[in-house]
Amino acid sequence: MGNLYLNKPQFEAELNRCLNCAAKPCMSACPVNCSPQEFIQHARKGEFKEAVASICKNNPMGHTCGLICPDQFCMKACLRGKIDFPINIPLVQATLIHKYREDMTDTAKEPDNGKKIAIVGAGPAGMAAAWVLVKLGYGVKLFEKSDRVGGALNLIPAYRLPHEVIEDDWNYIKRIGNAEIVFNNRVDNPLELLAQGFDGVIMAIGEQNGIDLGVEGEKNVVPYTEYLHRPQEFAGAKRVGIIGGGNVAADCAVTARNQGADSVSVFVRRKIFDMKVTRKEMEELIDRQIDLVTTTRVCKVVKNGDKLDVYTCSTQPGERGYVDIEDSVIRRKGFDLIIKAIGSRAEKPVEHTNIIYAGDCKIGGSTIVEAVASGRDSAKLLHSKISEEKNA
Ligand SMILES: Cc1cc2nc3c(=O)[nH]c(=O)nc-3n(C[C@H](O)[C@H](O)[C@H](O)COP(=O)(O)OP(=O)(O)OC[C@H]3O[C@@H](n4cnc5c(N)ncnc54)[C@H](O)[C@@H]3O)c2cc1C
Ligand code: SF4
Repeated sequence: MGNLYLNKPQFEAELNRCLNCAAKPCMSACPVNCSPQEFIQHARKGEFKEAVASICKNNPMGHTCGLICPDQFCMKACLRGKIDFPINIPLVQATLIHKYREDMTDTAKEPDNGKKIAIVGAGPAGMAAAWVLVKLGYGVKLFEKSDRVGGALNLIPAYRLPHEVIEDDWNYIKRIGNAEIVFNNRVDNPLELLAQGFDGVIMAIGEQNGIDLGVEGEKNVVPYTEYLHRPQEFAGAKRVGIIGGGNVAADCAVTARNQGADSVSVFVRRKIFDMKVTRKEMEELIDRQIDLVTTTRVCKVVKNGDKLDVYTCSTQPGERGYVDIEDSVIRRKGFDLIIKAIGSRAEKPVEHTNIIYAGDCKIGGSTIVEAVASGRDSAKLLHSKISEEKNA
């Protein structure tokens, strides 16, 4: 796990490259308002405890975010990028938390307020909501249908995000206050939780329903959730095709390579520069010799003996996204496995003033830091509703 972080010289070099910008563009770009300018300046002066406190006051999942936050937020805004290249802010953050958070607890906590909140789903949005609510003195119980915290983060391969990192953030949240979790406990109707005496419910259930490709032979395609949960079960696949152009597709592609695939092709409807992957993910795809078949849509997947044939057509940008080019269909033979790595869909919300939705089930497929921001905001909203009821 050690090689995921910056070593001492790298860490110091990154700290020293920071321009200490008065306008703090890195902070403005962060969905949870974390201030890299502030924590970097503390770290530069050797004030590591203060640096960690600066991160943790805004983000309970600072460790996980540090390892997987995409470069579209603070790094994109970092003014150092105008001189040479941006500070690797997420990795500085991950390194600080990894080395210096240890037993730190956030002490700014209200006394027990006697109210109970149920949170359904222990992904980043549910975890962030729990963090806000325990600090406000609520008793919090999380209901999680799986057997671990982290939600969709658990599908990210361990070479990028070891599960202990998610656990480390969860342990930090638990140290702050009264948060209990029950695993293997699926909640289908949040109204029942209100009937059981909870004062409010946060629904942070992520996007649960896979999207259909709407193509012939859909049943021959394996959803990414199934593949990334148990990639070893597909280890015999030598020629693998992946449908999708984002970080989920990238994770599937690299995982397939790690499982011994000789050839991995990623079919992407867009142009290469429109793919929703970070620079680091793109470099990984190229380094691992993964074939990026861009401006290409898979339109049929059919069985051919014990193999799969994939029919694709070429696409081009149109007024409303990419459109098929006429008469461009070609057949590509001999695949062992085709994985569908495109988005999911949220469930229909239950409407009630004290039931608030948070994270990907509310804002659509997002990023960890946006899910954390959404969980935090939903918890604050629920708190204001419950406080209004109390004062009415
Ligand atoms: C393969 C992959 C790679 C990714 N890579 C990145 C990345 O590099 N960087 C990044 O920022 N983001 C990445 N993401 C996106 C990120 O993981 C999500 O945006 C984030 O996890 C969403 O958080 P959430 O809490 O809203 O939902 P989820 O993480 O989906 O959590 C929802 C939780 O609710 C539980 N649940 C659902 N229904 C019920 C129910 N009825 N009862 C009880 N529990 C229930 C689920 O089991 C789950 O634990 C990736 C996602 C995937 C799938
Ligand atoms: S924008 Fe970049 S260089 Fe400027 S303070 Fe933030 S991290 Fe430092």
